[in-house]
Amino acid sequence: MVDAVSVETFSQHVLEWFEEHGRKHLPWQQEKTPYRVWVSEIMLQQTQVATVIPYYEKFMQRFPSLEALADAPEDEVLAHWSGLGYYARARNLHKCAKLSIAHHHGDLPHDLDELVAMPGIGRSTAGAILSLSLGQSHPILDGNVKRVLARFNAVEGWPGKSDVLKRLWDISEQVTPASNTSNFNQAMMDLGATLCTRSRPECGRCPLAADCQGLASGEPTQYPGKKPKKVTPVKSTLMLALMNAEGALLLERRPPSGIWGGLWSLPEVATSEDMSTWLEAAGLKAIDAPHSALRFRHTFSHYHLDIDVQALTVEISNTAVLEARERVWYNSGQLPGGIAAPVTKILNNLVGELL
Ligand code: SF4
Repeated sequence: MVDAVSVETFSQHVLEWFEEHGRKHLPWQQEKTPYRVWVSEIMLQQTQVATVIPYYEKFMQRFPSLEALADAPEDEVLAHWSGLGYYARARNLHKCAKLSIAHHHGDLPHDLDELVAMPGIGRSTAGAILSLSLGQSHPILDGNVKRVLARFNAVEGWPGKSDVLKRLWDISEQVTPASNTSNFNQAMMDLGATLCTRSRPECGRCPLAADCQGLASGEPTQYPGKKPKKVTPVKSTLMLALMNAEGALLLERRPPSGIWGGLWSLPEVATSEDMSTWLEAAGLKAIDAPHSALRFRHTFSHYHLDIDVQALTVEISNTAVLEARERVWYNSGQLPGGIAAPVTKILNNLVGELL
């Protein structure tokens, strides 16, 4: 926590702001029960308030209680979720309702650890349910709160990293007051949603501006840190489109392990210098100069492969060598078996041109 401001001042500023500007008329803020708050928190996880409201109201009409939800067929629960997306949320909601009825005396657990143990309920959601509906004092750390706390304290780093996340939880624990936690948590979420927004924070209207380190840095939006971009490595290879006098292309079976293991492919060499060595070893002789017939990028999950297809006409100089390897001359029609994905593309592009 920032030295310059006491925890008490922080919560006082937040609560005073809430009195005047906080949201108090949302449907789930009326007749607050753990059930009603829980459904809203789950719906709000990946969806904006304005979108959630009509879904929430219809859901509550059909499933006004935990019992009603637990008793409903899953299909009907999913049908009422239709349009909100991320259906795992609805399935977990339904499972959780059944578990609560069976093992928690017909209500959601009122204990933080027991609630966190239920399907689809993380620490922040559990803290929000118990503080907003029952007034228990638990810190929360949803996306909005992470942003406010990271900016206020100029916490560097991406919150997806465990040390950054831990630091933010520590701060949230420190600033969350023992009493009036319901309003405080609601206020923190509202601050993040309405003032301390992702790209254009309205610091001029923020109750925390005087002590906000992010604002003092001149660039509050640099907090929290962005997810580091993964640099996908790029490899390159040279594939040989070798055509014989009959106009057939040479395919060879790849080794059983490694990429495209056991599939048929064009012969591959690392560089153009390796081409003549390869031809000699395969018992082939080039009878014209190679030319680049096709270049493209094939993307695997962990790297890009830039493929340069060099085409040339060859003749057999040593049949015994060729037959000793798993190779075939492909003319057209039936392919010999599984083909490596980019080779299908190459054949589609080249066969018409070459044959
Ligand atoms: S002063 Fe600005 S950056 Fe700091 S918490 Fe308020 S809105 Fe966010």
